[in-house]
Amino acid sequence: MRDTNHLIDLRSDTLTQACHKMREAIFSANIGDDGYEEDETTLELESYCADFFEKEAALFVTSGTMSNQIAIRYYTNPGDEIILDSSYHINYYEAGPTIDLGKVYLNTSNSKDGILTVSAIEEAISNKHRSELYNFPTLICVENTINAHGGKIFPIEELTKIYNFSRKHSIPIHMDGARLLNATVATGISPKKYAAYVDSLTVCFSKGLGAPYGSILMGTKSFIQKVKKYRKWYGGGLHQSGFMAAAALYAIKNNIPRLAIDNHIAKKFAELLSDIELLNVDPVLVETNIIMLDVSQLGITSFDFVKEAKKMNILLYPWSKYCVRAVTYSGITIEDIINATVRLKKVIFTFQTSEKFYVKEKENNALSW
Ligand SMILES: *Cc1c(COP(=O)(O)O)cnc(C)c1O
Repeated sequence: MRDTNHLIDLRSDTLTQACHKMREAIFSANIGDDGYEEDETTLELESYCADFFEKEAALFVTSGTMSNQIAIRYYTNPGDEIILDSSYHINYYEAGPTIDLGKVYLNTSNSKDGILTVSAIEEAISNKHRSELYNFPTLICVENTINAHGGKIFPIEELTKIYNFSRKHSIPIHMDGARLLNATVATGISPKKYAAYVDSLTVCFSKGLGAPYGSILMGTKSFIQKVKKYRKWYGGGLHQSGFMAAAALYAIKNNIPRLAIDNHIAKKFAELLSDIELLNVDPVLVETNIIMLDVSQLGITSFDFVKEAKKMNILLYPWSKYCVRAVTYSGITIEDIINATVRLKKVIFTFQTSEKFYVKEKENNALSW
């Protein structure tokens, strides 16, 4: 039995740590210099992923951010436009690098649920004057699962419609599939099927899959050839990358079924939290491994809530002003989330009973926003 007050860290599924077998795979990896395409394990990982997702080619990259950035660089020229939802990582976190490195304009739609629709894309195009003299969208981005919307699964039906639209108008699609495999285990739709409706996609090894490092970027052979150059330009060209590739290969071969457990535990957590009316958690909206708590009704910000939860040995992530994120991953058990629910109830009780507390805390946090 663990200490009932042990630390429960729900900030992110990036907190997963390599298991013993993964460490053994790293230890015994066949390595070479990937700069000369001689790192056997990296080449094996790339060909395994290309087959697994049925794409022509794949490239092992340092991070999800680098995957997105080199893909954007491939599809766009400075001044071009990308259409996406404002909640996506490429806008929410990567607006800086996207604008600085890619020099593109992000034409965002503000959907309620993060699902980019054909009509939203059409609106984004027709909202502006279009002629040969002005910029034009050269890329559509989708995210699956949608982080900002509690790990929502991008529906395959909508993806198919976007795909048909994109063929008709010759605008390629890039999928930020950092947590795509959480979606595939939840829906039973194969990774290949999701991949078939996009020109390129990226998947993270360093989240629920439990590897310490890296993402895979996939697309056509000519796409991969070209983005390899940008990976090098941006400082992501590695040498004995086989050690990291061995962990990623272990992760993709062994850890996908485990993601269903994370999804299940998140759903259970949402069900337990749905008892707490003030948090507005709807278990139906929790489709994979992310739960969003809305603390606005408590009259406090997400920062206040996270700070108080920390005192109870629970770590959470303040997503936005009133939204707190909790993520499940391999270290988190059913026992943990039952325990976390009890402690969070105490946190809420603290806020409900201490008017003075949050007035004071609000003043302290006045500069946070
Ligand atoms: C984590 C994440 C990324 C970025 O991955 P890093 O490896 O941390 O750069 C991109 N997109 C989404 C949706 C993510 O969740």
